[in-house]
Amino acid sequence: MNEFSLIQKYFEKLTPDRDDVELGVGDDCALLIPPSNHAVAVSIDTLVEGIHFFKGVEPEALGHKSLAVGLSDLAAMGAKPAWFTLALTLPEVDENWIKGFSKGLAALANEHDIQLVGGDTTEGPLTISIQVHGFVDQAKAMRRSNAKLGDMIYVSGYLGDAGAALQQQLQQLNDDELNSEDIRYLYQRLERPTPRVIMGQELLGLASSAIDISDGLLVDLEHVLDKSGVGARLNLDNLPLSKTLKKINHKVAQALALHSGDDYELCFIVPPQHYAEIEKRFKGQVTRIGMITDDDGLYYIDDDDNLIELTGIGYEHFAR
Ligand code: ADP
Ligand code: MG
Repeated sequence: MNEFSLIQKYFEKLTPDRDDVELGVGDDCALLIPPSNHAVAVSIDTLVEGIHFFKGVEPEALGHKSLAVGLSDLAAMGAKPAWFTLALTLPEVDENWIKGFSKGLAALANEHDIQLVGGDTTEGPLTISIQVHGFVDQAKAMRRSNAKLGDMIYVSGYLGDAGAALQQQLQQLNDDELNSEDIRYLYQRLERPTPRVIMGQELLGLASSAIDISDGLLVDLEHVLDKSGVGARLNLDNLPLSKTLKKINHKVAQALALHSGDDYELCFIVPPQHYAEIEKRFKGQVTRIGMITDDDGLYYIDDDDNLIELTGIGYEHFAR
C-alpha cells in the first residue's frame, strides 16, 4: 500500500461532510468557506512518540487524543470546531495501527462535527500533527489577556488524574489504596481526555479569559496572569479532586492537581457580574479555586494565615 492509496482508504471519507467545505481531501489545497460574521480560530499541536505518548499506546486512544488536544484549544477560546488537517509521520505502513488510529480520530470528529479537510503523510519516527480550525465571535473570544483584579478563577472537572496515571505508569505513585477500577479511570483520563468544547462555547460572554490545562494548572494559569498583568491567590482546599485521587496521599494529590498536565480541563476567569450565573449554569461541573489580585505572582494562604508563593513547575519542553 502506498501513500496515496493509504490516504484514500483511511482518511478521505473519514469524517462528517460539512456544507462549508467546498473541496476537502484530494487536491492541492482544501477550499473552505468561513462564515462572514466570525473569526477563524486556528491552533496546531504535535504529538511525538516517546515525548507525548509511550511507544505501544493503543492506536485508537492515540487517534482520540491527537484530536482532543486541538479541540481543547478551541474550547479554551470559546470556538466552535469546523475543520482540521492531519500531518502524519509513520515509521511503516501498519494497516492495523492506521485502522485503530483513524477509528479513534473519526469517533471524536463525528462527535464534534469537525471535518478532516487535508493533510500530509510521510515516513519517519511516529509523529502526529493536527491543526484545528473553529469559529468564534472575535469580540467574545476568551483571550489570555482579559483577567482583571477582583475576578474569580474557576476550573472545570477534576485536576491531577492524568498526572496520577503517568506517575502510576512510571511506578512513582503509591497506589496501595487504588483498585483496578480506579486505575482504569486514571488511564482513561490520561489517554482519552474529554475536551470541554461545549462548555467553552457556553462560557462566551460570561468568562472573560480562559486557558486549557495541558501543562499543569500553575504554569497554565501563569500564562493568563502574565498576559493580563495581574496576580492571583488560590484556595488549595478547593482544588477539585476526583474520588480516585482523594484515596491517595492528600499532599501528593494536591501537588498533582497543581503541577501535572494532560487533564485538558478549562481554567477560566469570571468577572463579578457573572459569578452567580456561572455557579447556577455549571453547578457540579466547575469549581471556584481562587481570585485575581494585584499581587506580583501566584499565592495561597496557609493554615497560619501566611501568604505563600506558588511556583509553576509544570511540563516544559527544552527545560532539561
Ligand atoms: P501534495 O503533494 O500536493 O502536497 P499530497 O500528496 O501530500 O499532495 O496529498 C494529496 C492529498 O491528500 C491532499 O489533498 C492532502 O491534503 C491529502 N492528504 C495527505 N495526507 C493526508 C492525511 N494524513 N489526512 C488527510 N488528508 C491527507
Ligand atoms: Mg503534501
